[in-house]
Amino acid sequence: MDELEAKNNGPSGTTAYVPIACSRCGKNNSPDAKCCNGCVLAFDLEYAAEVDQRKEDMKDKMDRLSTEFAKSPEVLDMLLKALETLKNSQRNKSSSAEVLG
Ligand SMILES: [Zn+2]
Repeated sequence: MDELEAKNNGPSGTTAYVPIACSRCGKNNSPDAKCCNGCVLAFDLEYAAEVDQRKEDMKDKMDRLSTEFAKSPEVLDMLLKALETLKNSQRNKSSSAEVLG
């Protein structure tokens, strides 16, 4: 919480747009960027931890999914079919836009 307060009580009147230069690839990013546009280096440690946590969650879920799929492969077939339908509907949308354009 101290960090947050420090930010709020920071130098007043200095809200100039200061781009964040990436320390890895040197690309300039907007001040509120949480990670680099060029190389996806995380600027915000909290954000980096969040991404790691998400990856862990995903791994966990994938493990559970593969266990479930092994038990009932027909569920996997259903999912794949649903994904295919989803992809097709998205493709139809973009192709109709192309026709219009
Ligand atoms: Zn970068």
